[in-house]
Amino acid sequence: MAIDSNTAKISTPKTVIVVEDDPNISDLIDLYLRKADYRVLQCNNAKRAKELIAASNPMLAILDIGLAGDEDGLELLKQIRLNSSLPIILLTARDDEIDRIMGLELGADDYISKPFSPRELVARIKAITRRTSDKHESQQILEFNSLRIDLVAREVTLKGQNIQLAAKEFDLLAHFAQNKGVVFSRQQLLDSIWGDNWFGDERTVDVHIRQIRKKLSDHSDLLHTIWGVGYRFG
Ligand code: CA
Repeated sequence: MAIDSNTAKISTPKTVIVVEDDPNISDLIDLYLRKADYRVLQCNNAKRAKELIAASNPMLAILDIGLAGDEDGLELLKQIRLNSSLPIILLTARDDEIDRIMGLELGADDYISKPFSPRELVARIKAITRRTSDKHESQQILEFNSLRIDLVAREVTLKGQNIQLAAKEFDLLAHFAQNKGVVFSRQQLLDSIWGDNWFGDERTVDVHIRQIRKKLSDHSDLLHTIWGVGYRFG
């Protein structure tokens, strides 16, 4: 959790997905991004990357072009672009101009060549975030009947009354509200709210949902149980 000094409000760390099969590079990026107050989800293959992107509403993805397996970074980029404008930075080999050009043509927002300075990567991320943040401004307050969720102030009110939610309860509710109508499995919710480094039980999700419903009182039916699958909001 980071406190923005300009507004003195608590904000959710922004999620960045790092898709890189070299654990040294991936860990290095993770280290620097966390220091810069991003939340990082790491993975090493395209299949897992698609699951994480679907589950975690990331702000940006960093894709290594040279991924082992059936799908390399360019193929993954192509697939992401079929239905998403998620900001993407490619990691390319130093001299591979063709990869870079291909990447930009396929819709990457930027690229950075290996070996790179992690500080430069953070600077590029901030630049892209500035360019895309205007789009998000208008979506910082979500309203559903008399339920109001302020994503920046992390405040939830029901009929004008403040509701006290624990941090993870808020994260869950905000995630659902930003993805109205989407069914999430418990595992997807664990991935997106608790992250890859959390090893626990799917019942954790049920416990949190129960708490949220209790606090939403007569709006509790906004959170639907989809039997055998998971949960849906709205
Ligand atoms: Ca690689």
